Amino acid sequence: MSTFPQPWISTVSHWQATNRGPTSLYLHNSEADLPTTADVVIIGGGMMGSALSYNLTRPGAYGDGKKIVCVEAKDVASGASGRNGGHVGPSTYYGWNLHQQPYPLGLGCSAEEATRIMQNERDNLDLVESIVKKEDLDVDFWRGELIETHHSAEETEESKRQYEAWLQARKDYGFTSDHDTRFVDERTEATELSRFKGVTSIHIRPAGSVHSHKLATALMQCAIDSTAADFSFYSWTPVSGFPEEVAGGDWLVKTSKGNIQAKKVILCTNAHTPNFFPKDDPLHTHIQPKRSHCALITPPPTYSGAQALKNTYNMSDDHYLVQTPMGGIVIGGGLPGLVRDDKFKAEDSFGQIDDSEAGIDPAYKEHYNNYLKDNFIGWGPEGYGEGLTRIWVGILSTVKDGVPLVGEVPGKKGVLLNAGFAGHGMSRIFTVARAYENILRTGTWDENLLPRSFELTSERLQSVLKAQQAFEAKNGTGKITDSEGVIYETKTTEKAGKCVIQ
Ligand SMILES: Cc1cc2nc3c(=O)[nH]c(=O)nc-3n(C[C@H](O)[C@H](O)[C@H](O)COP(=O)(O)OP(=O)(O)OC[C@H]3O[C@@H](n4cnc5c(N)ncnc54)[C@H](O)[C@@H]3O)c2cc1C
Repeated sequence: MSTFPQPWISTVSHWQATNRGPTSLYLHNSEADLPTTADVVIIGGGMMGSALSYNLTRPGAYGDGKKIVCVEAKDVASGASGRNGGHVGPSTYYGWNLHQQPYPLGLGCSAEEATRIMQNERDNLDLVESIVKKEDLDVDFWRGELIETHHSAEETEESKRQYEAWLQARKDYGFTSDHDTRFVDERTEATELSRFKGVTSIHIRPAGSVHSHKLATALMQCAIDSTAADFSFYSWTPVSGFPEEVAGGDWLVKTSKGNIQAKKVILCTNAHTPNFFPKDDPLHTHIQPKRSHCALITPPPTYSGAQALKNTYNMSDDHYLVQTPMGGIVIGGGLPGLVRDDKFKAEDSFGQIDDSEAGIDPAYKEHYNNYLKDNFIGWGPEGYGEGLTRIWVGILSTVKDGVPLVGEVPGKKGVLLNAGFAGHGMSRIFTVARAYENILRTGTWDENLLPRSFELTSERLQSVLKAQQAFEAKNGTGKITDSEGVIYETKTTEKAGKCVIQ
């Protein structure tokens, strides 16, 4: 486990590279003195820390009239949030089915809870859009439809079966709002709509894309500008470990710039969460880091202007992509195929925390360089400067039971955690932040705002540990099968099936 400061220089994503102007928050307060007390300290200035800071500092919110300090080990959105795919892609039947599977594939929840989780992701999309509109944020937010491609008759049949089961579950459990989704299983129509070779069917559903670094920065800036709360953000201020309990039930947060004492401390540290817990604590292993690649592809004229992609995509082989308004296409994913073809080892991803150039694998470079031209119909010749333009890596989190951990750390009254977004944070963080403000203010968990299964409890952690022990007693450790049946040999006990990137 790496702690901060990190001994390497991180790669720079498309989003980080295109948000360098005066409105970005690089080095914000990095040299300033840290206050010694606060009501709330938020650790981590990624999308979760920024969205929570935003929500807590609105007039009438929990933080109204309070002093809130957010400390970040590096710059705002320097972790997964500023180096992701920019895709806000709520899941439908696939996630619905996955969450119902028992360990090691899913959460093992009821069909009703799985339906609620999917609805929450859909609400999250509406919520990001409404925040962007309300605050008039200049963050390249796009709202449209996602095309999910399928590539065999079997895949089409199984996807359609699950899709119809999910639609039925929505009816059965009273989710009557329009789900806005379609399943196109006529090959010619599916091919024309997707422009993708070899599709047998497509599933179309609502989605969005956003400049993730600009969004996290803008939300943090809204918090800084708040007149309701006394909020401040300190970059390059790493915290050295779990806060220490002091007299009166307060917590002492130890940072590189001195200590700060607070009534509440909220960890928004996602993949770095294990650093805060001793080896024998379930929270040391429940969330684990995973290194992922993304790339920017500059399309040739055949996929630019009026010919540009009009959708975001999820391919069934785990790729996903978004068309940015100006920069080109951001693509990510592809791990199962590279592992299956013996081009990449899963352990070079699972458990890895180095997001520097050393983490960029040549196999990914080659793969992303070819993927769009090999698969999109009529992708014309690429000139110098077109095609693969930038590649980077980031550290996301895998989670043993696939859903975030939200709530008080068991046995540590006043220390809270919002982490474990499993490669899918853009479809979860905004509802988590909204719900968490409500939980702090009212002391109640509103299941209409957040599924109960996201709650961090010691029972949840223990039940996952038991399920893991039972699974490993039967199957042994180190051999992991994901939802596509790909077996990963890995030294960690994490599994690919838990990390659904969209
Ligand atoms: C390559 C890649 C592609 C992805 N694509 C998508 C996508 O298209 N759609 C999607 O929904 N999700 C995607 N994800 C996942 C998504 O980015 C994450 O779920 C989300 O950004 C998590 O946000 P976060 O704020 O919890 O974590 P982070 O952004 O990682 O923020 C955590 C912050 O905590 C800070 N921190 C950690 N320890 C300390 C400490 N000790 N002291 C102070 N600060 C500390 C870190 O520096 C970091 O900035 C992707 C992730 C990656 C890496």
